[in-house]
Amino acid sequence: MIKFENVSKIYPNGTKGLDNINLEIEQGEFVAIIGASGAGKSTLIRAINRLIDITEGSLTVNDIDVSSLKGKELRQFRRSVGMIFQSYNLVPRVSVIRNVMSALVPEMPFIRVLLGTFSQEEKMTALKSLERVGIADKAFIRTDQLSGGQQQRVSLARTLAQNPDVLLADEPVAALDPVTAERVMEDFKHINEELNKTVLINIHHVELALKYADRIIAVKKGRVIFDGPVAECTEEV
Ligand code: ADP
Ligand code: ADP
Repeated sequence: MIKFENVSKIYPNGTKGLDNINLEIEQGEFVAIIGASGAGKSTLIRAINRLIDITEGSLTVNDIDVSSLKGKELRQFRRSVGMIFQSYNLVPRVSVIRNVMSALVPEMPFIRVLLGTFSQEEKMTALKSLERVGIADKAFIRTDQLSGGQQQRVSLARTLAQNPDVLLADEPVAALDPVTAERVMEDFKHINEELNKTVLINIHHVELALKYADRIIAVKKGRVIFDGPVAECTEEV
């Protein structure tokens, strides 16, 4: 469903973020991208939902040429390819459920997130997503009163509420303590297995990658140096 063909990204200052990447990822895979800082993990993941533009090659998602998308099409596409950030990107001073419901309306005005009313249906959808990550009991608490791990799960629930086919996550557990990081990885695993969503995450923590993902892609200097099932991923990577 995600296909990179000879994809390169050269940043305006000449840095090669990606160097001739060829990859195919199928629906329902759980892929971890590993590599040292600066290897190109973020660039790779951000290219998929066009947070960065590739400079060479072809990148398609479900046969849609990502580079050709504009305006409304691009916004729609980004709803089907949900992105989760290390920094959560939540509105801190409003309730958890408001943050999750904000995903339900494309380009929701900020003021509606803060003050708007939501339908019963929107509330149910948000609660269901929160349940999926085990924090429905926190729905009506102010978001900034949650721990980092809980906020990461809210962020995951918000992305789930928009019912994407793919979940992309850029270092989703880097800021979390080891126990919480495992819990968040378990959430990704459940979502992958139970909802058959494709999950693609950047993670510098190799043990967590090996424990939860099915497939490992290792990158170095913008190139893929290993791509295969976890079982074949040996210490040379
Ligand atoms: P990783 O996520 O593995 O840490 P990145 O994808 O962030 O790696 O970066 C890959 C390479 O591209 C690095 O050398 C980084 O310094 C460079 N890079 C990333 N973003 C930019 C940018 N906006 N401008 C110039 N170089 C960048
Ligand atoms: P991450 O790897 O999680 O993206 P970084 O600290 O590497 O975090 O980068 C933070 C931001 O700075 C990113 O948006 C990245 O694209 C940009 N960036 C990274 N390296 C460079 C660079 N050499 N020049 C300019 N921008 C960069």
